[in-house]
Amino acid sequence: MLVVMQEGATEAQIQTIMDRMIEDGFDVHRSTGVVHTVLGGVGGKTDFDTEVVAVMPAVKEVHRIVAPYKLASRRFRPEGTVIKIKDVTIGAGKVVVMAGPCSVESYDQIERAADIVANAGASVMRAGAFKPRSSPYSFQGLGEEGLKLLRKAADRRGLLVISEVMDSTQIPLLCEYSDILQIGARNMQNFNLLREIGKLRKPALLKRGIAATIEEMLCSAEYILSGGNYEVILCERGIRTFETQTRNTMDISAIPVVKKLSHLPIVADPSHGTGRRDKVVPMARAAVAAGADGLLVEVHPEPDRALSDGAQSLRPEQYQEMMRQLRIIAAAVERGI
Ligand code: PEP
Ligand code: MN
Repeated sequence: MLVVMQEGATEAQIQTIMDRMIEDGFDVHRSTGVVHTVLGGVGGKTDFDTEVVAVMPAVKEVHRIVAPYKLASRRFRPEGTVIKIKDVTIGAGKVVVMAGPCSVESYDQIERAADIVANAGASVMRAGAFKPRSSPYSFQGLGEEGLKLLRKAADRRGLLVISEVMDSTQIPLLCEYSDILQIGARNMQNFNLLREIGKLRKPALLKRGIAATIEEMLCSAEYILSGGNYEVILCERGIRTFETQTRNTMDISAIPVVKKLSHLPIVADPSHGTGRRDKVVPMARAAVAAGADGLLVEVHPEPDRALSDGAQSLRPEQYQEMMRQLRIIAAAVERGI
């Protein structure tokens, strides 16, 4: 921790801060500059609340040096985490495409979607059976029936399954039908759910919260990792900003930032990231160019009739064209797809 004292801080004020830091187990190194005195605190508790010092008299600013997460940090596994599920590896260099409709709607819809996804070369089929909808009156998903339809459609075509778990009571069902458990943006800080997922030995995809910082996302991943479940995939899905042209603001820079801070694979979801299908393909291209380990994309056989997220779901031919373009981009950045 670094504490910068205000200009003109008195000796007594500086001493009070030093005493407070020592009390919390820090070794204090003082540097008295012409204008500011800087106190460097080494050691101490990693969960020390820097705001406690930040609001004390004569303190100008406080910087945390040690990240509040350990197991999610790149230092913990410098070579990076590779997750292997059946014959699919995530984080090993190849871009993994997870695609499918927002929700499972019917037998016919999911079968047609599975054909589109498999024929264009994705390896994981996505679709929600439990849907976190902003309005309680919107379609909430087909539940277990949806999971059964999804699993069968994926199995017939040799695809893996990813589907969302909304609360801990749904974990057994999701473990039965899905290869990867998706934790939605609204649940990124549902710490009880994260701890329960941490007890599993099952891959989880953790979406960035609607207004979460990258550090908060990594702290949430830490909850899962600290339970012993190391198979965590992060997902950038856009964040809420003041911009209204897109549903969310797709933070492409989060990809290289996470790559540097963490060993965990990161995939990009340009569908929720933009909310409009004409913006999805450009953002998918950008994400692959930026180093994403995979993509999570919504595609629907008839998006105009979709029960959820139709506006951001690609039409089959757009999806095929996206896959064609991504192969070229992946090759340009020395990755496969
Ligand atoms: C989804 O993937 O359909 C979904 C609900 O995503 P998010 O949690 O990112 O909003
Ligand atoms: Mn959706």
